Amino acid sequence: MIPQTAAEPAIPTFAEARRSVEEYAARLAPTGTEMVSLVEALGLVLAEDLRADRDFPPFPRSTRDGYAVRAADLAATPARLRCVGEIKAGATVEQSAIAISTGDAAEIMTGAPIPSGADAVLMLEYTERKGESVTAHRSVRSGENIVSAGSEARKGATMVARGTRINHAIVAVAAAIGRAEVATYRRPRVAVLATGDEVVDINLPPGPNEIRNSNSYSLAAQVQAAGGEPLILPVAPDSADELALLLRKGLQAELLLISGGVSMGRYDLVEQVLASFDARFLFTGAKIQPGRPVVFGEARLHERTVPFFGLPGNPVSTMVTFQLFARPLLDGLAGAKPQPLPFAQARLKAEFRTKTGLTRFLPARLGGTHEKPEVELVPWQGSGDLMAVSRANCYIVVPPEREHFAAGEAMTVLLF
Ligand code: AMP
Ligand code: MG
Repeated sequence: MIPQTAAEPAIPTFAEARRSVEEYAARLAPTGTEMVSLVEALGLVLAEDLRADRDFPPFPRSTRDGYAVRAADLAATPARLRCVGEIKAGATVEQSAIAISTGDAAEIMTGAPIPSGADAVLMLEYTERKGESVTAHRSVRSGENIVSAGSEARKGATMVARGTRINHAIVAVAAAIGRAEVATYRRPRVAVLATGDEVVDINLPPGPNEIRNSNSYSLAAQVQAAGGEPLILPVAPDSADELALLLRKGLQAELLLISGGVSMGRYDLVEQVLASFDARFLFTGAKIQPGRPVVFGEARLHERTVPFFGLPGNPVSTMVTFQLFARPLLDGLAGAKPQPLPFAQARLKAEFRTKTGLTRFLPARLGGTHEKPEVELVPWQGSGDLMAVSRANCYIVVPPEREHFAAGEAMTVLLF
């Protein structure tokens, strides 16, 4: 056995490796900004603060269909009020002129402006109407069912801060302040390089002992979903010279993802060839499964320092290690803070046993109901099993020290 030298760092745990990429990601910066139309902004990162162009809401707004009233008039119920008019959302000039005096009520719709003099809205369900007469069967607090002007945001206030990734809710905020275009950070360009003599690209027929390149495509899909722009390079054979040539191309991007060639085999050349690009390795391996041989570092080309990942070639390992470790760098390169991993908890449907010592991410299906979310393992043949992961929608996270998991246990899951 070869003794571990002092210079050789210990293999990090999952948490340590994750912290290392998060810290690295936090120091990255985007390469530029561009204006994009709101309908194309989904998944990009805001390069500007979205500010309120007026008060939100711009007027005191009713949150219910009912009657605008003076709360004091309803101290004792039932109370009899007189209906003095109707106010609908987008109220007309006449409707906005309505004023409520003691004993008055105005029929009001959700989203309509509260008339002067009123300080509460009584829900329609608690009223009875006969002609102009309204009977109120409940009291209301002053302010009930009213959102006061500017209570969501004052004119000029930041509604969404620069650096936020744009989801459908942020699209809604941008629309609400009248923005047809928003400033976003440029998508980071991410080179994707598959390696392996046995790996054949999808436009060619594979020989009897060859397999098709699926990793470049799953990685490109993950990059795209993470707001990056994937650049798929030709498959690199297990030859140092040809690998070097393709790595040189890959290092022109802002991030390089390599799949395969990082295990212990004689033809696993990726680390060795990266070393010729002044690579600095932040970790080589992590105590996880699948994905144990994962490599993270940075290399230099033409005065530029470019982060890279060597992701193990087994398809499930490639997917898992992208999500666990590469994803935060896409955030950093896009001008966003690294997003936390989407963990959740669910009850285990059926017991299982597993080897210990590593944090495992096992393909699983989350289902059940909102009252009882349940998760179960998808049967699999190991980290090469594409079919298993295609049937999964999450991973069960197995802590390294546990061996047996009983049905009904609360399990942590990592959502896709
Ligand atoms: P490696 O990490 O290079 O030792 O590869 C591990 C396993 O993953 C081998 O069985 C490879 O055939 C498979 N593999 C490697 N690269 C790819 C790829 N791009 N697409 C699909 N499978 C791959
Ligand atoms: Mg290989």
